Amino acid sequence: MIKANDPTRISWVQYDGSTDFPVQNIPFGIMIAGGKHKVCSRIGDYIIDIAALYELGFLNGIDLGLQHLENEFLNDFISLGKEVTNAVRDRLADVLDDKNTLGAKAKSEKFLRPALETVMSMPVRIGDYTDFYSSREHAFNVGCMFRDPKNALMPNWLHLPVGYHGRASSIILSDCDVKRPKGQQLPPDSEVPVFGPCKQLDFELEVAFIVGKSNHLGETISTANAEEYIFGLCLFNDWSARDIQRWEYVPLGPFLSKNFASTLSPWIVTLEALEPFKTVGPVQETKILPYLEYSGEKNYDIHLQVSIKPEGSDPVVVSRSNFKYMYWNMVQQVAHHTVNGCNLRVGDLCASGTISGPTPDSYGSMLEIAWKGTKPVNMNDGTTRSFILDGDEVALTGYAEKNGVRIGFGDCKAKILPAD
Ligand code: CA
Repeated sequence: MIKANDPTRISWVQYDGSTDFPVQNIPFGIMIAGGKHKVCSRIGDYIIDIAALYELGFLNGIDLGLQHLENEFLNDFISLGKEVTNAVRDRLADVLDDKNTLGAKAKSEKFLRPALETVMSMPVRIGDYTDFYSSREHAFNVGCMFRDPKNALMPNWLHLPVGYHGRASSIILSDCDVKRPKGQQLPPDSEVPVFGPCKQLDFELEVAFIVGKSNHLGETISTANAEEYIFGLCLFNDWSARDIQRWEYVPLGPFLSKNFASTLSPWIVTLEALEPFKTVGPVQETKILPYLEYSGEKNYDIHLQVSIKPEGSDPVVVSRSNFKYMYWNMVQQVAHHTVNGCNLRVGDLCASGTISGPTPDSYGSMLEIAWKGTKPVNMNDGTTRSFILDGDEVALTGYAEKNGVRIGFGDCKAKILPAD
């Protein structure tokens, strides 16, 4: 039993029921404080300085050092293994517990700081980034639009979790502005491309997992062991330039339409914090090969939402989806990724692919929501959106809720700036 998950636990830190960060969450991130990068966590509206807790002696008995906590990234901390990182999570919950006898509350000003006054930094040094394509509804919708409804799903799709290797260097933290990309596009009824700013800029609602344990080159990971290799989850907006994508993607897949930016939320919510929210996934009726078979509940009931806020106007919710809709789950993705002996490394990021649900209000991209521009969405300022315009801020949010405990992810948002 992970003690930090105890739904009856109450903290001496005050927060209201709508927070993403109750004492049962204890996510991990990196903040910048006093000119240093430090491992931190969060409760309510406060950031927890874990390095400060270490120096105060509250982490005594756990096998880690200050070098893991005063660090530019979480990679070294994660590499200590789940035995250590879960012990830290449990200890933090004890330190923050209303009934705690550790004397932490009296010293709170030494390790709690207001979140609003704290600058966050990229949580991990991402070595490799893999993007899957694991929502059946999304793959079907895109197949209908880019090809035809009769052959919407490619013949391989129900047999393996389709994915491709993306680019890690352009993954950026929430609240970093994104410049509209430029590139080649093929105008309708033309055989010659033009060059210019993307006219069909889109978001992709995704959840990403951070690899928490490396496997050696040549070694495979089974679905039964895959959870050991998943540290935690973040929200992920995989920005996409649809007009550039449509022209460039044949035959090797997307390239410049995807690698200009992807926005990541700053908190990694551990797989252990999400354990109570496991649920069954969609039935996989097509017989799958043995290495992709799994047992137990491997999907997660996480409510997801996307809103668009035009410049000077209010945000409008354009999608309500759920991570549980994923056809291929994360343990299948890990097993498939490594079945050829490919080595995953601590800090690698694997994204789910756009998460679309069964109904139009649960689609995870503007391409689908506005159905290739044929069903524009109304904004509160009288304008409409088929794709994302300059000045728009797109925000992803996500939370899981059960037995009065609500575990959320914080912000994953970014504003679009005009092309040069
Ligand atoms: Ca994607």
